[in-house]
Amino acid sequence: MNQKKSDSKSKFNESLVRKDFPILNKKVNGKKLVYADSAATTQKPTQVIDKINNYYSSQNANVHRGIHALSEEATREFEKSREIIANFINANSSTEIIFTKGATESINLVAQSFGEKFIEKNDEILISTMEHHSNIVPWQILSQRKDAKLKIIPVSDNGEIIIDELEKLVTTRTKIVALNHVSNALGTINPVTKLTKIAKKFGAKVLIDGAQGCVNDLVDVQRIGCDFYVFSGHKALGPTGIGVLYGRQDLLEDMPPWQGGGDMIKKVTFEQTTFNDLPYKFEAGTPNISGAIGLAEALKYLSKIGLNEIITHEKELLEMATKRALEIPNLKIIGQAENKAAIISFVIDDAHPQDIGTLLDQQGVAIRSGHHCVMPLMERFGLEGTARASFCLYNNEEDVNAVFDAVETAAKLLS
Ligand code: PMP
Repeated sequence: MNQKKSDSKSKFNESLVRKDFPILNKKVNGKKLVYADSAATTQKPTQVIDKINNYYSSQNANVHRGIHALSEEATREFEKSREIIANFINANSSTEIIFTKGATESINLVAQSFGEKFIEKNDEILISTMEHHSNIVPWQILSQRKDAKLKIIPVSDNGEIIIDELEKLVTTRTKIVALNHVSNALGTINPVTKLTKIAKKFGAKVLIDGAQGCVNDLVDVQRIGCDFYVFSGHKALGPTGIGVLYGRQDLLEDMPPWQGGGDMIKKVTFEQTTFNDLPYKFEAGTPNISGAIGLAEALKYLSKIGLNEIITHEKELLEMATKRALEIPNLKIIGQAENKAAIISFVIDDAHPQDIGTLLDQQGVAIRSGHHCVMPLMERFGLEGTARASFCLYNNEEDVNAVFDAVETAAKLLS
């Protein structure tokens, strides 16, 4: 596999990519680390680590405030990051990029701000059965506060959103449809452009939860046609504590601020406050400056390797992993969508997913087990949880084999 890759003219060079991720040299429980938990968080390349290090070593100052040179330099780097991110997802303008803590905070921002202004009694909010708790609970809280209806689009046995059901459920009372781009639990890559188009026919606004989107699919918010797109830095090779809310300019302009504080104001008196322009209206307080800079570096790294090359590589890993998984007696893959990211969720007979995870850990293999923050989806499949192996650009055939050799051993021990 390595050989085949480096022999080809492909821009993607597996062994070179792996060298960029120092953590892959770590030993866990005396064994070489095999990291197959990228859907929980991705590892970080040296380029991102160095960029953050360099920021704190030579550029650190608060942004937008100081008139001194260092503050101007930090502000320039911070705002350049916003532009890199806007370009990466093809936003119209960097003023449509709001920095948040992560996908969760971005969704809460929309639920609170958009929800406050635009959701009324008996309005409808549509989500699907496969949503992460982050894309359920904020809407549930909003619908309870506003006496609105939360309607759920079911998923098929394969783990795909049933499009006919969306068509039946969406009405002119639907104010927002909030859907997953890539399922963290099943790996399903949803046809977000198509789903958005259907929702838009009824005038609904569309939010796409792209927490898993950036490394698993091409993201072009204008092509998708969505009103909001959210993601987290840490799942796209960037640092934790930074995330993005993309919002269409005219909508963001119409939405009230959600948090008050420094930076989001133009003028404050005890009687009244004039709010700042976009994007600052939604960024109260000192932002995560190094996080934004690190995230932009991560997206630059992904672009340099090439998203298409990464996706092709991940498809190959998925194919190998699926084949190996299905060779293990009594192993059942949960989620067999036609279009999938390199995520394999599985159960083996009555074995507890936690026990599978622990046995793999003893062999140096990191996977995730549990409900993956999608309890309603687990219930849909009659499960309490699954074991989940998720692969990313820095994984290779050896990793896939190590994971499923370890699963095979665990299955024998647990049978
Ligand atoms: N949505 C999905 C699909 C996710 O996978 C996750 C993280 N597991 C989130 C939302 C929440 O992301 P974060 O915890 O980074 O805010």
